Amino acid sequence: MAEAFLAGLKGLEEQAKVQLRDEFLELIGIDAPSWGEQAIGTSLQKKLAGLGMEVRRDEAGNLYGYLPGELARPPILLSAHMDTVEPSKGKQAVTEPDGTIRSAGDAVLGADCVAGLVEILQGIRLAQDSGRPHRPVEILFSVAEETYCEGLDRFDFSQVKSRESYVLDLTGTIGSAALKAPTLVSFQASVRGRAAHAGMEPEKGINAIAIMAKLLGKIPQGHLDAETTCNIGTIEGGRMINIVPELCTIRGEVRGYNHERVMEIVADIERLATETAEAAGAGADFTYKVHIHSYATPAEADVVTRFQQSCRELGLAGDLTETFGGSDQNPLSRQGIQGIVLSNGMYKMHTTEEYTTIEDLWQGSRLVAGLILSEV
Ligand SMILES: [Zn+2]
Repeated sequence: MAEAFLAGLKGLEEQAKVQLRDEFLELIGIDAPSWGEQAIGTSLQKKLAGLGMEVRRDEAGNLYGYLPGELARPPILLSAHMDTVEPSKGKQAVTEPDGTIRSAGDAVLGADCVAGLVEILQGIRLAQDSGRPHRPVEILFSVAEETYCEGLDRFDFSQVKSRESYVLDLTGTIGSAALKAPTLVSFQASVRGRAAHAGMEPEKGINAIAIMAKLLGKIPQGHLDAETTCNIGTIEGGRMINIVPELCTIRGEVRGYNHERVMEIVADIERLATETAEAAGAGADFTYKVHIHSYATPAEADVVTRFQQSCRELGLAGDLTETFGGSDQNPLSRQGIQGIVLSNGMYKMHTTEEYTTIEDLWQGSRLVAGLILSEV
């Protein structure tokens, strides 16, 4: 990237930072729980149209935009999600003198993922204001990412032209990117015993809780190996202390970078549940759901090279990392769109102590501009 461009950015810096802060505060001021993104979607649709984009909003509420470019390079897709985790109602921000923007404390701040949204918007403005030719850009602002990327399950990917994507949805200072993410499967296992009066005829009952205790002793938990974890998160069972419990249910998750390995563990748990229940004369029910599918983007892919080169030119670290959480890149990779997840300057997300900084928003928007203007 030309030095003139960097110098030009300097002049724009103060103005852009004010604009970033104002736009951030404006957007977090809109309630946007998962599946309640109508208002923020309307606001963002106007902003994208204002950048000269062709914008479509699908039935689920996902926003898709296309911006033609003069640079004869393939388009890239930039993405962030519009929903926020709970507690999300009435989000309020406090801006500190040092430029930290933190939650006032009663709700999350919503930097996850409003930081990504404003960095994308401002990054496009910076690229446009530079007067330099940029590549075609596609935007995907999704709904219901926080509920395991449900929003993109309903998105029609056939309209997407890009084969490469950047998802702005990772904690940390601007300039790092995650190349891989896990598969995540949730499961539910129930033991069906038989109810009986606990005092009169307990021998006629089959105690589902006691059988579940045996099963729990057999299911491996925590780190199963370097890249797989399993957790039992909830347990429910029994009605009254004077009834031999008929039903006991556990719910848990398995996650890991190797999809097949995760599916093997899930199958093992099902087998253990069936065997343990049957050995005690009880029945077992087992269901599971694959929420996200793992991917690994090679470090030598163009999408990574472009990121690292842009970071070098902008004085950012360009660190490559991995994440053990999901993002919209999981469904994008499933659709054959190779990508990485970029840190967008959000910290302590999913808590009411969430914060970001104006400097991060600025660096994030510079990086977006760099990616759009890159000839890689
Ligand atoms: Zn997020």
